[in-house]
Amino acid sequence: MTRWKCGIEGCDARFEDVESTIIHQTVEHERHECKVCGTIVPEGYFAIRHAFDEHTRAEYVRAYEADSTAVRTREDVKGEIEAQANLGSVVAQLRERGAL
Ligand SMILES: [Zn+2]
Ligand SMILES: [Zn+2]
Repeated sequence: MTRWKCGIEGCDARFEDVESTIIHQTVEHERHECKVCGTIVPEGYFAIRHAFDEHTRAEYVRAYEADSTAVRTREDVKGEIEAQANLGSVVAQLRERGAL
């Protein structure tokens, strides 16, 4: 079963669990520079988490020229990941690999 798709810029790598997806996004993709504050963050889930935890929706919309549908899609993805992923284990694995 391949439920999770990477989805970064047309990448269609697929994974059976969300943890592997986040690790792939963090290790295999180039880092993302936040358009609001310039912080370099891992691409994928961590970039979304940074954007919505550190900035307001209004800042995000302005910096990324996003519309409310784009914001809602990302918030849904973030919510689904946080409901299903063992983020503590993901972070521990990534730290072990020196990726965070
Ligand atoms: Zn990918
Ligand atoms: Zn930022």
